[in-house]
Amino acid sequence: DYKQGGYHRVIIGDMLQDGRYKIQLKLGWGHFSTVWLAYDFRSERHVAVKIVKSSRRFTQGAKEEIALLEKIHSTNPNSPGYQHVAQLLDHFEHDGENGTHVCMVFEVLGESLLSLIKRFKYRGVPAAVVKKVAMQVLLGLDYLHRECGIIHTDLKPENVLVYVPNVETLLQERFHIHGPDTLPNAPDNNNNNNNNNDNVDGDHDKTAILDQVDTKGLTKNQKKKLRKKLKKKMEGQKRSQSHRNRENKNGQITSSILDFTAGDQNISVYENIVVKIADLGNACWTKDECVHLIQTREYRSPEVIIGARWTEKTDLWSLACMIFELLTGEFLFDPRPSSKYSKDDDHIAQMIELMGDKLPPRLTLDSEFSHEFFDRHGHMKHIKKLRYRDLHDVLEETYRDGHQLDLLTEFLTPMLQLDDNDRAGAVAIMNHAWLHE
Ligand code: ATP
Ligand code: MG
Ligand code: MG
Repeated sequence: DYKQGGYHRVIIGDMLQDGRYKIQLKLGWGHFSTVWLAYDFRSERHVAVKIVKSSRRFTQGAKEEIALLEKIHSTNPNSPGYQHVAQLLDHFEHDGENGTHVCMVFEVLGESLLSLIKRFKYRGVPAAVVKKVAMQVLLGLDYLHRECGIIHTDLKPENVLVYVPNVETLLQERFHIHGPDTLPNAPDNNNNNNNNNDNVDGDHDKTAILDQVDTKGLTKNQKKKLRKKLKKKMEGQKRSQSHRNRENKNGQITSSILDFTAGDQNISVYENIVVKIADLGNACWTKDECVHLIQTREYRSPEVIIGARWTEKTDLWSLACMIFELLTGEFLFDPRPSSKYSKDDDHIAQMIELMGDKLPPRLTLDSEFSHEFFDRHGHMKHIKKLRYRDLHDVLEETYRDGHQLDLLTEFLTPMLQLDDNDRAGAVAIMNHAWLHE
């Protein structure tokens, strides 16, 4: 990707924007850019510089991202959600050997929520921390939706970053970086492998497999025990499988060098946690005609899969998926294709299994891809046998902490309404008791 139209090859110590910024460390990278720690000689502090790939497509995308970020920066600094969205400080263009690169300057942030999930070994981040994070993301989303007229469209743990309150001290203590100094042996993380392992064989109906086991001659109780054991084993496999995919999908540096807890596992460290919604690279205006494919698979809403017109409510679907994942360490939806149905089929089936048959005719009959998934009665075409299981049961199975299960179910349910007209907005969710108890 370090070629004409691709990433800019950065060398530690490089100066950008007529000597204003000096590059010091690589902070991360994505499909469109590399992100660097730099010293800003004008404001005399450290910043994060996102250097975008140079081809016309990426440049155009970056310009749209800047327009959205400028709207966010200028709309209402007094809004409580303002501080929960990463703010653009500056932007410019940089000419390099691979072309002209748009550069965006942000305040330096720390690790992503995915790294937090990993830190807690995929067993769930403590509820007290998740409640804080959820409240702040809701404030940020409300600001984006209602005040800025913006839909994020790619809300997921990777795109919510932890604020680092004392960047300058941290850089001094941990890396011995003072002001514009650079580290003599700066780590180079040019590991840009991104195996998008998206094609995993899946099986929809787990009971069918359980039924294939030879249970002849066993008592009812023995059968029950065997079934339970097999189920547990399969779920275990499924779980580790999805984590493996996860690691592959995110070759990115998720455990940031700017982990503000310095690896401390003590929950009290997180009592000052502040998070910010980042990566507006896929965001769009609420006033636009929104029908194109958005969101990362696991966080994708039903209306998007079905090809209906979507609204800002699609972000709340993603938020519910993200909160579930923070609490349990597992994806809420992790669809797989089979020879008989597609990954999208499985995804929609899992949604219906969880939330009931509540898709309106607008979605089952009248949307662009309705006919691919549903017959004219609104029943699924390729998956006949649905295994309904409600959210409360799923939480009971996966949420180790297990506290306030009823309240938590009640909190998540409005965000997971299949009909986005019935789905609650950020403000309504913010007042729910689960966040405040
Ligand atoms: P994507 O493929 O996710 O769309 P992208 O090219 O749009 O990637 P970002 O997601 O904005 O890039 O940033 C890439 C990575 O850089 C992030 O995952 C994060 O690790 C790091 N990063 C981004 N912004 C900051 C920041 N302000 N401070 C510290 N690190 C950052
Ligand atoms: Mg990103
Ligand atoms: Mg992006």
